[in-house]
Amino acid sequence: MPTARVVAVAPGSPAHAAGILPGDELLSLNGEAVRDVIGYQIQADEPRVELELRRGGLEQLVVVDKHAGAPLGLDLASAVFDRVRTCDNHCPFCFIYQLPKEMRKSLYVKDDDYRLSFLYGNFTTLTRFTEADLERVISEKLGPLYVSIHATDPELRARLLRNRRGATSLRWLGALLDGGIEVHGQIVVCPGINDGDALHDTLLGILDRYPRLATVGVVPLGVSAYTTEPDMRPHTRAEAEGVLDAIDVWQERFERVLGRRLVYAADEYYLLARRPFPPLADYDDVPQHENGIGMARTFETDVRAALAGAQTGSVPERQTGSVPERQTGFFAWVDGAPAEGYRAPRVVTPVRLRRSSPAPVRIVTGEYGAQVLAPLVEELASAARTDVSLLVVANSFFGGNIAVTGLLTGADVARALDEAPHDARCLLPDVVLSNGRFLDGMDVEELPRPVEVVGTDGVSLVAALAVSSP
Ligand code: SF4
Repeated sequence: MPTARVVAVAPGSPAHAAGILPGDELLSLNGEAVRDVIGYQIQADEPRVELELRRGGLEQLVVVDKHAGAPLGLDLASAVFDRVRTCDNHCPFCFIYQLPKEMRKSLYVKDDDYRLSFLYGNFTTLTRFTEADLERVISEKLGPLYVSIHATDPELRARLLRNRRGATSLRWLGALLDGGIEVHGQIVVCPGINDGDALHDTLLGILDRYPRLATVGVVPLGVSAYTTEPDMRPHTRAEAEGVLDAIDVWQERFERVLGRRLVYAADEYYLLARRPFPPLADYDDVPQHENGIGMARTFETDVRAALAGAQTGSVPERQTGSVPERQTGFFAWVDGAPAEGYRAPRVVTPVRLRRSSPAPVRIVTGEYGAQVLAPLVEELASAARTDVSLLVVANSFFGGNIAVTGLLTGADVARALDEAPHDARCLLPDVVLSNGRFLDGMDVEELPRPVEVVGTDGVSLVAALAVSSP
């Protein structure tokens, strides 16, 4: 039977008043075994909650009376109480196969679990989806979900997933859409395999069979130095241009037929093709921001809005910009279940601020981030009235074409910090950390010099700079 371990009890909460303790094991709620925080939340919302608990090997029943919908006040050790459903695919572009050995165990989990799609926005291929899952998703309205499409041609999709079931599992996508579930799709493009005519064919297949998809993001594959797949290679500039051209054509077609753009290209494509990003309005409400789509334009827009606010003397605030709130979906209203082992919360607390220092500033960033930040540096420096420049960190840990800031490791950042002036404030975007640790396990406190951890959005960056303004 799946159980959930209580890791914290909010002081003053109904669970605290009922004497529930960290370490207690939750066996059932209102007489029902619960498999995940989704089921937990449904039961925990009731005004009367009967919790069957195990403490020190002894089972006991605790009854909590509260207002309907009021949080119980429990943090649970994991979002999924039974086993996370792992994927049975072997995609040649899978980044997990391209990780060096001996990283954190949780990084090697190949999840393909619709619940993690619902809770965290993880993409699922639906190859392990079942009729019972479909029934649950529709009856509990578990949307939005995020589905990896890659290709609508059955043979090509099976080849990309290296799984025969890949040829047929998109039938679940149709069933989810028919059931009224909001679904966002993704196409990971591998040059020479599912770009060119195959990409056009996939977008035609979407128009034909899945026009109710909310959005489709088109992203390039990442290739690290550890790939063992000879056919997996980064896009050339011409290939990136080809993908953008295809998306232009299809945005126009979707707009004409469906009245909306539906498909969007990852920011990375514009950098690879050396083309300007589309205006922010062309990303609509930036529905795949977390997937690196519209992130650059949003960042730039927010920096400029925050700088304008700072000039009038108002402290930049997140809501002054257009940054969409982080899409935590369902998880935003779950009062328990931190993402232990999956997407642990980022550390956003600035550390070691030197508030009145006119010190120079170095903004730590990856190679792609540098291309987005470079045009803004002069404005940032002039607003902060100090020397502001970028500390660009090459990703030698992963190598290959990995240039996004979010995949920087402590070892690479530590090396780059040597180049900063000794009196510089070094601003580190929080996207590189999970619970204070880099991907390679290094703690931010282990860096060779103090850094200030700042939010990765434009407003947070301006706010961090404003702190040092006289
Ligand atoms: S479905 Fe995802 S996790 Fe599974 S092999 Fe493919 S890329 Fe990796």
